[in-house]
Amino acid sequence: MGKKKSSAPPEQHLLLPQHPARTNAQTTPIVDTHTHLISTFSTYRSKYKEGKYATVYDFVREVYKHHGVEAIVDVYCEAPVQKHWRELADSALSEEDRKTKWGGLEYWFVMGVHPHEAKEYTDDVERDILEAMAHPRCVGWGEIGLDYHYDNSPREIQQEVFIRQLQHAVRLNKPLTIHTREAEEDSERILKQYVPKDHRIHIHCYTDSPEWAARMLAHFPNLYIGITGVITYATNLNTSAVIRQMATSAERPLRILLETDAPFMTPSNIYETLKDVKGRLPLSHSAMIPWTAEWVANIVNESVGEESHWDVEQVLQEGRENAKKMYGV
Ligand SMILES: [Zn+2]
Repeated sequence: MGKKKSSAPPEQHLLLPQHPARTNAQTTPIVDTHTHLISTFSTYRSKYKEGKYATVYDFVREVYKHHGVEAIVDVYCEAPVQKHWRELADSALSEEDRKTKWGGLEYWFVMGVHPHEAKEYTDDVERDILEAMAHPRCVGWGEIGLDYHYDNSPREIQQEVFIRQLQHAVRLNKPLTIHTREAEEDSERILKQYVPKDHRIHIHCYTDSPEWAARMLAHFPNLYIGITGVITYATNLNTSAVIRQMATSAERPLRILLETDAPFMTPSNIYETLKDVKGRLPLSHSAMIPWTAEWVANIVNESVGEESHWDVEQVLQEGRENAKKMYGV
């Protein structure tokens, strides 16, 4: 059988250059508050069959190197629960292992059942999640919520499974990672009914309306809006509108969390730096966050006007502060 030729740009392009605004050594560390590490690594393996990184640890150590990726929050949202979560989480328990295996990265995770898979939610799955919640590297319950764009599970089941998980998370005081898409009314009603006002909530990969964001931010003082590379896409104007809305309010820091949702949502402005890449990168990863931060800084500056001089570093700093408040990482 002939080898199928991969259309992906060569592997070395995944080792990004430093973001042009981050040339000096004193740069703010990157915290990726929402990433799917195993699926990022398997996308890498399938797109780069001859790729040199054989394990997820090799991948992380080499691809994140020199970029100051300090911490990631990995997401397990499948049903049944993927059993390998424990190996990764255990391997981040000792400082020694974090240094040798992870290259110094702080590995954390959240777990829950995604609305797409709500119909697969069972007592056994729930038992597995509850077990994971007790792990010292587990910092939240998610991603859970409602997705009426794809409707991969029936809406009544999505709601039922969402509520069931919310009740456990609230009882355990676990921060929530929420996935909501084209389900504003039901997500709002359910969150307001089942979650106490002061609970920590991350509305991840935000793409819904600015009005909805404003209502949720006003109701929940510890709610944050998750910003991925999707903010750079011409097909999505909502996320930039949310930043504009925040920028013109007096509240600081901005209530945002920076995330990749890797392997998806490669920021489109990265190709201004990667001029010699032909085609598109087949995956995103945590070291791409500065490009998303750059987009946010530009939106803030445009909204506030001349006296505003936000840069990549400031956005990363606010994101860093908020990650600490949200997940304690
Ligand atoms: Zn996700």
